[in-house]
Amino acid sequence: MHYTGTIWRPPYEACSALIQVTAGCTHHKCKFCTLYEDVPFKFRMSPLSEVEADLKEMSRYYRNAKRVFFTGANPFVLSFDKLKTLAGLVKKYYPKVQSIGCFARITDITPKTTEQLRELREIGYNSLTIGVEAGDEESLSFMHKGFGVKEILTECQRLDEVGMDYNFFYLAGIYGSGHMEEGVKNTAAVFNQLHPKIIVSSMLTIYPSSELYQEIQAGNWAEETEIEKLYELRMLIEGLAIDTYFATMGASNCVNVEGHLPKDRNRMIKWLDEVIGSVDETELRRYRENLRHL
Ligand code: SF4
Repeated sequence: MHYTGTIWRPPYEACSALIQVTAGCTHHKCKFCTLYEDVPFKFRMSPLSEVEADLKEMSRYYRNAKRVFFTGANPFVLSFDKLKTLAGLVKKYYPKVQSIGCFARITDITPKTTEQLRELREIGYNSLTIGVEAGDEESLSFMHKGFGVKEILTECQRLDEVGMDYNFFYLAGIYGSGHMEEGVKNTAAVFNQLHPKIIVSSMLTIYPSSELYQEIQAGNWAEETEIEKLYELRMLIEGLAIDTYFATMGASNCVNVEGHLPKDRNRMIKWLDEVIGSVDETELRRYRENLRHL
């Protein structure tokens, strides 16, 4: 198999056949991000011969995969034609595959027409995972996400229109100290206009190699405390008025909370209140500082 650097996938893609079609990220500018540092180039699309060889090998050992997940930070950036060719290759080796997923940036959706998105849905692309991080203009802009609220709304509404499901990655702590309340309100207002099936929450963990670390050193930005981040989750869960599955996933979360909204809202808030009332900032901080790798 051809895998380059650390292979990242959402926790719920654990049973998917992981096929590398791209490596690295086309954007590479988010201030907090250190995810693809071990990839020896910024971005690369795998040669089709490599993808085909991997599909052939994978199908020999994992014959009954129902879903294929394309790896890389944003394979959905590939053109409509390339995505179509890749779906054709998947069908050749997995004729019974039910769907194909990948990470996508909001800006990867923009160049595709609504008809192309519809066709991609028809040939199997579904349940994209989009790292929107938040729905707060100021934070998205400061962090150099490369898109804003308007783009999130426009592009996700087009996915809704063609029936292509999507999940969001949310980043607790993105607003910075003193901006959390306003930021969460803005995010809830944006998410409430959309239909993410799952909202996965991670907690901001700042590594010295990130641009955000330099911003903190320069006094331009201050981190939320760990307890503030827990309040942030509480506020977001309280503010979400859509049917969705909300879950903290991954090692960055020092406290976990999950459930279906709105059904489990009260239980989730009660749990967070209990945690907030009993945890110690120093202990949580120690957890974060000892987190060598996400
Ligand atoms: S957060 Fe995602 S889009 Fe931003 S630089 Fe990292 S991998 Fe790329």
